Amino acid sequence: MVEGKKQIAILGSTGSIGTQALEVIEANPQLFEVYVLTAQNNVDLLIAQALKFSPKVVVIGKESAYQTLKEALSGTAIKVLAGSKALEEVVQYEAIDVVLTALVGYAGLLPTVKAIEAGKHIALANKETLVVAGELIMPLAAKHGISILPVDSEHSAIFQCLVGESYQEIEKIILTASGGPFRGKKIVDLQNVSKEQALKHPNWSMGAKITIDSASLMNKGLEVIEAKWLFGLEADQIEVIVHPQSIIHSLVQFMDGSMKAQMGLPDMKLPIQYALTYPNRIVSDFPRFNFANFPYLHFEPADMQTFRNLNLAYEALRKGGNMACMLNAANEIAVELFLQDKISFLQIAELNEFCMQKGTFIAHPTLEDYVRTDEEVRGMARLGKRE
Ligand code: NAD
Ligand code: MG
Repeated sequence: MVEGKKQIAILGSTGSIGTQALEVIEANPQLFEVYVLTAQNNVDLLIAQALKFSPKVVVIGKESAYQTLKEALSGTAIKVLAGSKALEEVVQYEAIDVVLTALVGYAGLLPTVKAIEAGKHIALANKETLVVAGELIMPLAAKHGISILPVDSEHSAIFQCLVGESYQEIEKIILTASGGPFRGKKIVDLQNVSKEQALKHPNWSMGAKITIDSASLMNKGLEVIEAKWLFGLEADQIEVIVHPQSIIHSLVQFMDGSMKAQMGLPDMKLPIQYALTYPNRIVSDFPRFNFANFPYLHFEPADMQTFRNLNLAYEALRKGGNMACMLNAANEIAVELFLQDKISFLQIAELNEFCMQKGTFIAHPTLEDYVRTDEEVRGMARLGKRE
């Protein structure tokens, strides 16, 4: 370890956020060093990343790929581990300063808890962790005196707008949504849409799960819940507006009526970099916004009748307890089934609603309750409603 450089653990380094984070790190070798890299399946990319960045440790989720990884790195000093339990271990290494949670889904929860307990700052891309257990994570972060630095572009925008402000003076926040590939469509138009259509996001190139969530507006729903926990807001203080150009990344309205927005071309490297350098900014060569190319910025209300997932998220937020954990688990399975052509696009929201009605509600869940709820609802969603 070179003294003074921030030591970064990236969970999910082979994904969309993970690879962009490595680009940010590569561009700033005087500031950052990679300590841990992890991936679920893509062993070839993980090997290439490990050889390039020389982390101390790598983890492959898929245990059958362990030998391949071990052999490929045999000539190096890099420690090689496998399996999901290893994620909970590697986030705790003494030298790590920041854990970037760039893995997808509920799988982020337990490693994040362990990282916080070990006193690591969290650069949080994995919104599902706060959706599932924000009520537990935020007090845990406060107890251990660590920061949860948002990487999600909307939340980074709000976080940036709040620098120098008091959270008590927020009247409301407005999350912008691109509207995804099906913006303006009605239920009749969406009966037979394919996964190929759903996977074509107009503005962002992202992992498959979040891309489907963007098409169904579940992503915005998850972000509403994420915002509640990050900024300590009530459901009524969080609004969503569709802004197809994704230039305004989100806004804060204060109690005197003043509004602040954070803007820029859509590029996840900016919020990733900000989370890694906060409270400072550093120079970047990311493409700059030019007003002449955007003489009109467009806004419209979100259609919650057609895109029911957004409504379900507000419902989950108002109900509290483990309801958002149920919604998240149902949605992870629903997206998986949709990507396997086993359910239709519209059945995603149906399955989510079904599971929220049938799951066992717990008003004040413990960590173990969240784990059980996730398991119960996944099982239910797999058997789930199919008509
Ligand atoms: P991705 O599918 O491109 O990458 C996911 C990464 O996590 C991969 O490295 C994969 O190997 C790993 N992974 C997958 N399942 C895992 C599991 N069960 N256990 C451990 N590791 C696992 O996803 P992404 O688009 O990079 O998104 C990552 C997270 O960031 C998600 O929570 C997403 O909502 C959030 N996010 C992404 C973007 C974006 O632009 N991609 C924007 C905002 C927020
Ligand atoms: Mg986002």
